[in-house]
Amino acid sequence: MLNKLEGDIMNEINEIVELFKKSGALLSGHFLLTSGKHSDTYFEKIKLIENPTILEKIVDKLVELIKSKNLEFDYVVSPAFGAIAIGFLTALKLGKKFAFTQRENDNMVLRSGFSDIKGKNLIVVEDIITTGGSIKEVADCLKNYDVNILDFFVLLDRSKEKVEVEGKIPNSLAKVSASLFDKEDCPLCKQNIPLTKPGASNKFNN
Ligand SMILES: [Zn+2]
Repeated sequence: MLNKLEGDIMNEINEIVELFKKSGALLSGHFLLTSGKHSDTYFEKIKLIENPTILEKIVDKLVELIKSKNLEFDYVVSPAFGAIAIGFLTALKLGKKFAFTQRENDNMVLRSGFSDIKGKNLIVVEDIITTGGSIKEVADCLKNYDVNILDFFVLLDRSKEKVEVEGKIPNSLAKVSASLFDKEDCPLCKQNIPLTKPGASNKFNN
């Protein structure tokens, strides 16, 4: 039996997952992943940006979560490209500054021009984490700017193993882990559910 608070948290998580599904960013079905595994879940995170009204509702939840931590910071920083809209909207709603990092020759760097960030307090906002690789790169590149990273926030955590960045476990709105199957013992294949191969442009590189 869940107590009232746990019940409220569950409802809140379900609401967030529903918003992801509504945007088309979280799909249920039978998918062939680039790894060759079959899965019951697929993330098309670009759909978040395609649906600003839904994204805003999700970001409002993230803003509540950030406010609950009572952090004193100046900047929200996100990695390009998918998380720019999310970090920007978060910064706008919190009245903070925004900056983004981008990949240049395989290295994550702060986009030139964000020159005021030096020495400032900041939080990092990302869309979805799988291994945490992307936010680790953000944290590493920010070390060159003498900043103080107070915390990490993500919309959705789909990590299998515990992710820790700079000694912190990123805060997330919801945790959704996909079931992965080998072709030979995929229960969805056994039920003859048609297999979908999502767009090749989708890489699982978070
Ligand atoms: Zn299958």
